[in-house]
Amino acid sequence: MTTYAEIAVIVVAAGSGQRAGGGIPKQFRNLGGMPVLARTLNLFCAFDFHSVIPVIGADQFDDFENVLKFVRADVRKRIASPVLGGNSRQASVLNGLQALVHSSPRFVLIHDGARALTPSDLVQRVTEALQTNDSVVPALLISDTVKEVSPSGMISATLNRNKLRTVQTPQGFRFQAILDAHQAAVARKVDGLMDDASVMEWAGLPVRIVPGAAGNLKITTVDDFEIAERQIFNERQDIRVGQGYDVHSFVPGDHIWLGGVKIAHTHKLNGHSDSDVLLHAMTDAILGALGDGDIGVHFPPSDNQWRGMASKVFLADAIARLHARGGVLAHLDGTLVCEAPKIGPHREAIRAEIASIAGISLDRVGLKATTSEKLGFVGRKEGVAAFATATVRLP
Ligand code: MG
Repeated sequence: MTTYAEIAVIVVAAGSGQRAGGGIPKQFRNLGGMPVLARTLNLFCAFDFHSVIPVIGADQFDDFENVLKFVRADVRKRIASPVLGGNSRQASVLNGLQALVHSSPRFVLIHDGARALTPSDLVQRVTEALQTNDSVVPALLISDTVKEVSPSGMISATLNRNKLRTVQTPQGFRFQAILDAHQAAVARKVDGLMDDASVMEWAGLPVRIVPGAAGNLKITTVDDFEIAERQIFNERQDIRVGQGYDVHSFVPGDHIWLGGVKIAHTHKLNGHSDSDVLLHAMTDAILGALGDGDIGVHFPPSDNQWRGMASKVFLADAIARLHARGGVLAHLDGTLVCEAPKIGPHREAIRAEIASIAGISLDRVGLKATTSEKLGFVGRKEGVAAFATATVRLP
């Protein structure tokens, strides 16, 4: 019986291809609220694999750091430090394999970073077939007729499609066998092999196919991004709205925190953390949309580790919970109710800070302010109230 702990995963994401547009390599482009590569890594981190090794380009370490922010925090530790890619896909895979030599897993899955929608049952299918095969590749039947064409644009042959398959990743191998085959190919100066199955074929070793999945799209072109976004959202979208409310009272002091921005004031807000009433309401709004308790459940005031804590930690945690569910934040909207301080002069700074903490664009952050016409506790300048709404999209 093969266990996931015996299998390492190499995710090849070193390409610089920009056919998908956006001015950055496709694996780092936003796909439905998070980078393509983050979706791919989340897929494999959901299993208890030996390790997940990303292979990236020399100038892609900053992009990769950003990707990690979107990987489920509870399983992020399964991702190893990224390995530097080579001049070709084949060279990049070999670098990934060599990074595994010291730990020598029994098997390895090799996956294209741009296949971000791979169904988990396909991963299981490849893994299970490794029990009885050294090389396993997911393959699809072809429904179109395939022609061989001459350079002059004339058909030179019609291939028998019954004997043809298109192949996908993840491709699974016995680790030592694929490492030996890759090293032998380099030693013989054989390069340009199109996938890892080709390396095994070149080495004369048998490769088993298992059924692939039609939805296992290799996201390459602008059109692919549109298809992939539809696949993620239009078919499975679950839009939810959550609300939050919070109040903190004034006590003697000289500043308050609102939306992660420090504002000079005649008082401060009383509370256990930095008492950022707006971020507390927004945190609760996200938790509400997720049906995942409230800020007091996750950060109990009785727990001293949260004393004086910057409330952006709470908002970031709620967003990590959202990402862990495969969701994205569509918008955050807040209303502050106070007689003083005046919010207008700070509105844009607060919006920008919230957008930064939440990892969303500025146009997805709303902030309004009102007084309560001198009525009630707010009207008596005894404190600040905040209302918030969050819209999230879950798969
Ligand atoms: Mg509070």
